[in-house]
Amino acid sequence: MKVTSYYGGYADMGYVYIAPPNEKLDKDIASRNEITKLFKPEEIQIPYITGDSQISLFISKMTIAEDKFFAGYQKAFESEYGLDFDSHGYLTGFELNLSKDKFVEFIRNQAYKTFHIEWHNKPYNLVTFDHPEQVFHSENIIYKLNEQEDTFVIVQLEEYENYYPQYYYTTKKKPPTAKIKALFSSREDIYPLEYLLKPKFHLEESTTVAVINNDLCCELNVLPQWDSIPNEDRESLINHYVCENCSEVVRIMECIIHGVEDGLLLRGTCNSCNHRVSTHVPLNQII
Ligand SMILES: [Zn+2]
Repeated sequence: MKVTSYYGGYADMGYVYIAPPNEKLDKDIASRNEITKLFKPEEIQIPYITGDSQISLFISKMTIAEDKFFAGYQKAFESEYGLDFDSHGYLTGFELNLSKDKFVEFIRNQAYKTFHIEWHNKPYNLVTFDHPEQVFHSENIIYKLNEQEDTFVIVQLEEYENYYPQYYYTTKKKPPTAKIKALFSSREDIYPLEYLLKPKFHLEESTTVAVINNDLCCELNVLPQWDSIPNEDRESLINHYVCENCSEVVRIMECIIHGVEDGLLLRGTCNSCNHRVSTHVPLNQII
């Protein structure tokens, strides 16, 4: 594997797990999480609001899109976040491109709330990712996530603002940005209430990485360690990974190699089930 000359930096990255992450991943990346250093567990309080009939009323005024969210995501609009879906189209988490301060504020000010609602005569748990006036806005649109019609997102479509008036003559219009303001689901097995009230937030501060290829980056300071691993072992770590979610032998996509106390940590997404995965390579295996 040859490293190209491109070096990039990652900005602070905040991540919200809407569904529980797998235990292995959670354990592997725990030491990198700034949130656990900033908040004691009891300081992350997610309010659970039941019996607010106004909420169902607000939602009933919104337009329901015919398309699935994912279909729109690919053709009609872009998303401001890096979104993760499982293989059935359920949203499992998203990245927030917020500074550390903003992300802390997002958690501290309880923009994240859980409501119990009735909609079309069915009970749902609804999680918000912004303040109520932004979430329960009549112009927001409801998208189903898949054909099951048991999980939906409330989306605000924001027209692209053109900051460069001199380019107005261009005929190509940029698609609007979709901002997911809430998710509601009746699938207690995918989005357990217990988890929604104690969700995992993850924040990592910026690092500098070397871009090895389109799908592989390595933190600059551990690049020599990665390079010291025999080529076939490196290939095998990335291309023959046994995924803890789907149990298949898969490739780790969008892989980032980090340095950890006793070795390397590879992190990315399973190319079969799309779940986030991680694998720990101890130092004695490297040299
Ligand atoms: Zn998998």
